[in-house]
Amino acid sequence: RIDAVDGGPDAGVHAFLQVDAEGALAAAAESDRRRADGEVRSPLDGVPIAVKDVLATRGLATTCGSRILEGWLPPYDATVVTRLREGGLPILGKTNMDEFAMGSSTEHSAYGPTRNPWDLERIPGGSGGGSAAAVAAFEAPLALGTDTGGSIRQPGAVTGTVGVKPTYGGVSRYGLVAMANSLDQVGPVTRTVLDAALLHELVGGHDPRDSTSIDAPLPGLVEAARQGAAGDLAGLRVGVITELGGEGYQAGVLARFRDSLDLLVAAGAEVVEVSCPSFVHALATYYLVMPCEASSNLARFDAMRYGLRVLPEGVEAPSAEQVMRATRDAGFGDEVKRRIVIGTYALSSGYYDAYYGQAQKVRTLISRDFEAAFGQVDVLVSPTSPTTAFRLGEKLDDPLAMYLNDLATIPANLAGVPGLSLPSGLADEDGLPAGFQVLAPATADDRLYRVGAALE
Ligand code: GLN
Repeated sequence: RIDAVDGGPDAGVHAFLQVDAEGALAAAAESDRRRADGEVRSPLDGVPIAVKDVLATRGLATTCGSRILEGWLPPYDATVVTRLREGGLPILGKTNMDEFAMGSSTEHSAYGPTRNPWDLERIPGGSGGGSAAAVAAFEAPLALGTDTGGSIRQPGAVTGTVGVKPTYGGVSRYGLVAMANSLDQVGPVTRTVLDAALLHELVGGHDPRDSTSIDAPLPGLVEAARQGAAGDLAGLRVGVITELGGEGYQAGVLARFRDSLDLLVAAGAEVVEVSCPSFVHALATYYLVMPCEASSNLARFDAMRYGLRVLPEGVEAPSAEQVMRATRDAGFGDEVKRRIVIGTYALSSGYYDAYYGQAQKVRTLISRDFEAAFGQVDVLVSPTSPTTAFRLGEKLDDPLAMYLNDLATIPANLAGVPGLSLPSGLADEDGLPAGFQVLAPATADDRLYRVGAALE
């Protein structure tokens, strides 16, 4: 299937940056042998999976969609990758992404864009467009993504797949190349809610190698999905977020959102409206906090430790600083440079109170809005993304238009709460998939699966 549809940078879906056919087939053969002996390592033993190229895979190149990591072979596996291997899942390869997970369309990859399998002229969302497109195009039944500001959920919405951002700390970040480490989470990208629950249970749970990992067992996610699939939501209180779903949202996306609300009511849920007034500041807050953390994290790409090293032209014995400059200039793309500049500026001496400090305070207000809302309802819902997939190139030269795609997904990252996106149907005006987002209180990821499965 990958051979048939994936193509490359110039044509086809281009979900993969690298396919490890040999490794995947060897792992599949081992799984078959185990099964013949009656040994099954996990419910997903033998099911192949694609992995976003921001997760370290031992011996398999990991680029983060950037030239600066070209040729880097990680000497270790991310914890989630270790758990895939231990669970018997063959790893098909590494999927395309916006460079260092910065973007909402996968057009910021240094290796060419991924295209949406529903219409190859359109974007698959981002930053994890490769993982979502691989699943939507039936190149992989499962994938792993990462979500810092919507990069699992928004690609899920525009490709008609299921994507989950777990509670912050619910899945290990060890071996995830950090973009904004107070926001980053690894999570499942799948075709069904039950698949997502199975994968989440496999990769999630405490990891002593991640200092932010929650030291408590995960709630029963598969069990919750099975309960939800039975279709009974009697007694469940659902809050529609007033601030997410009005102006700026496509009519067809809103129509499918209302259809899903009707289904929830039919399943016995009570639907009310809940206001989260600080959410209107979420985008501005995120686009300060994220560049600040990213500018600090990306300082490690110093031309000495990883991947690319470019020597400045015409300099006989370049200094370390000259090599660093030449390498970062050639190795980072425009969006990454833009964020490094913004983050470095905002963290400059004397500016803390004006920018980062303010953003942290608004972040607290957003968390309080969530706390107040979850005092009234069990889950919150909204459309995942304001529009369906737009055309390649449409927003590439307008960073603010690109950032607006993240309106509904970002509050969850700022507050650390879990979120799930699942398909709500096709928008009337363009026949493209729209997404429905469910948000739950921290560590109550099971509620996402109960509601999601009831809607499937
Ligand atoms: N669109 C967001 C950004 O550009 C998505 C980031 C993410 O979740 N990795 O920052």
